Amino acid sequence: MTNHRHPCVGRDPETEAARNAPLGPLGSCLRRNDSPHQDDRPPGTKVSLLVIHNISLPPGEYGGDWIDDLFMGRLDPAAHPYFADVAGMKVSAHYLIRRDGSLIQYVDPEKRAWHAGASSWKGSERCNDFSIGVELEGSDDVPFAEPQYETLAGLAKFLFQRYGRLDVAGHSDIAPDRKTDPGPWFDWERFRAAVA
Ligand SMILES: [Zn+2]
Repeated sequence: MTNHRHPCVGRDPETEAARNAPLGPLGSCLRRNDSPHQDDRPPGTKVSLLVIHNISLPPGEYGGDWIDDLFMGRLDPAAHPYFADVAGMKVSAHYLIRRDGSLIQYVDPEKRAWHAGASSWKGSERCNDFSIGVELEGSDDVPFAEPQYETLAGLAKFLFQRYGRLDVAGHSDIAPDRKTDPGPWFDWERFRAAVA
């Protein structure tokens, strides 16, 4: 149970279940789990990979609700010139960590979120099948915020407890021809030390 006020509170109703479900160290996570951009993992799939991304909407701008709208399938294509190209994309991530460190879960990690696209890791294609996707609100051009590292480390530890020690890769590692995120500002050494 948490009384944490999240930026999204008030825009969308939190479910009673989301407010009351325990989530280990992630007590302040807003669990929506209702992105329309999800489906079942293939039967018998073992979750083995954590994929780190960055996203900002519009690119380079932070703090708005546009990412939330994108993952919820309701981004207004007319709200910004950039949105016309992305509003129809059926994408999601299991988690979003905003600049203030707040955490939103859009898809239960037992389900398949649509974050990786064409990708491969250690010889296996379609990383969405076996991975958990975390988006950091950010870009390739600016450092991530301190609270984001703290939340990410807590989230990773929680997921390692639940799924065992997952591989961790950037989107650019699993789709190197298409993707650059999380980009040069993501401090892998810091992250690895925090979850060691
Ligand atoms: Zn990405």
